[in-house]
Amino acid sequence: MNYKLLAERLLPGEYPALETFEEKYPPRNLPPKAEVTRLAPSPTGFIHLGNLFAAIANERIAHRSGGVLYLRIEDTDLKRKVDGAVEAVIKALDYFDIRFDEGAEIGGDETYAPWYQRQRAEIYRAYVKHLIEEGRAYPCFCTEEQLSALRETQTEKKEITGYYGKYARCRDLSEAEIYENLDAGKPFVIRLRSLGNPENKIKFRDAVKGEITVTENDQDVVILKSDGIPTYHFAHAIDDHFMRTTIVIRGEEWLASLPIHLELFDALGFQRPRYGHNCSLMKQDGETRRKLSKRKDPELSLEFYRKAGYFPRAVKVYMFTLLNSNFEEWYLKNPEAELNEFPYKVEKMGKSGALFDLDKLNDISKNELSRLSAEEMAHFLKAWAEEFGTEAEKGYFADEEKLLKVLALCMGIGGKKRRKDFTTASQAMKFMEYFFTRTPREDEYRVDEETKNAILHDFLATYSYGDDAQAWFAKVKELAGAHGFATDMKDYKANPQNYKGSVADVAEILRIATTGKANTPDLWTIMQILGEKEIRERIENA
Ligand code: GLU
Repeated sequence: MNYKLLAERLLPGEYPALETFEEKYPPRNLPPKAEVTRLAPSPTGFIHLGNLFAAIANERIAHRSGGVLYLRIEDTDLKRKVDGAVEAVIKALDYFDIRFDEGAEIGGDETYAPWYQRQRAEIYRAYVKHLIEEGRAYPCFCTEEQLSALRETQTEKKEITGYYGKYARCRDLSEAEIYENLDAGKPFVIRLRSLGNPENKIKFRDAVKGEITVTENDQDVVILKSDGIPTYHFAHAIDDHFMRTTIVIRGEEWLASLPIHLELFDALGFQRPRYGHNCSLMKQDGETRRKLSKRKDPELSLEFYRKAGYFPRAVKVYMFTLLNSNFEEWYLKNPEAELNEFPYKVEKMGKSGALFDLDKLNDISKNELSRLSAEEMAHFLKAWAEEFGTEAEKGYFADEEKLLKVLALCMGIGGKKRRKDFTTASQAMKFMEYFFTRTPREDEYRVDEETKNAILHDFLATYSYGDDAQAWFAKVKELAGAHGFATDMKDYKANPQNYKGSVADVAEILRIATTGKANTPDLWTIMQILGEKEIRERIENA
């Protein structure tokens, strides 16, 4: 068969000589150990925790080594393309402080541009043409119907599905048959002529999983689709080579395609990058563990974290905990350190499923938020509220002095111990609501209506806004005694039958009347923040 003529017929016209690509995209001028990593999402508009997981790993590996992290958009599948998806990726990752050095919609060193695969068609086609000339790729005219019939037969026979070996019908078409099909105008794809044998097992050093054994590829995978656009497999091999990627950290769902990728790199005559397959994020679901699912688990989407107002550092701390086995210990020793100071190591990445637990993240979030100053917290909440808050919540920032007082109280700043009441921005805003507006009562009074009314009435009779905390509490005690409640907790515990309750119960009545809740931070301070007029009105209403 004259492969050169065939290649010309299939991909007519002049293509640049392959060396010109090597010259155009030369090895990067970086220090010897610098790593070049990338994120290569498809523009589907859905960015998930797995993307963040891989992004953090790739970002750390690149930047700790003085290398480059770039963003490449794998848009070969137009059906999956969504407008604004690239900006959404950049924004979603920016929230977690992941910054690209170059890439789609980012710019940077133009040497390795463009970063959209659809704009790189010439390189792919030049290489496809070359593979056809070498007899390593061939046209396939099988129709969708033929391929699905093939899949059915293979499934029935419990054989591996795909286009390989005896099932690769178009692999051995004669020259005459090929030209006949072409003359008839039949659409075709280009497939790799695999030279692999599935009996052969290859030892492979995965950067994350260590030494693994994979089966040699024998699938004649499609490399160029009928619309002249390459498949992911082919495009990524070309791009990782010419963008001079040194290590690829990607999800372990790609492990199954690894043999294809190894063969493609060899067929193209490229040196392979290192590959590391990151473990999947799992969720405990009753007795079983399963992968986080787009359909069932809202927490899979990164949007979930921004909307709920998770503190980015908290999410990152948790991701690091899942990513690197020695992170937790390091963080305990270095709680004040910048996360980027952590000596991130590929070798310490988890080899098998990481269990993602929202409760654990919430605990970490509480801790992280409790370490902020009131000003830092206000800043974080404001940014969240501007994007996601209600009009009322946006209003909390009008009186900054008041807000800082509320935050200081709710966070226990200046107290013996920091409070850990805040988990996320949305929850914190809700938590503080009663400071800014009168909220419906959430908790029930634990005394009868008459007692409650009498206590509230008598409280107002002696309430003076100028009283300090001690004077205020002395009055509450007096009030308790006058209404048959124990003023002293010890007395109450010794003889509860002698009392209606204790001074704590009286305070609770006042608390519910003022805030609607039985549990709040220090009530005297709350009253100080709310002001005399507001307190009187709330208690009267109650
Ligand atoms: N485009 C692939 C994806 O959507 C990228 C896989 C890789 O990182 O090589 O996940």
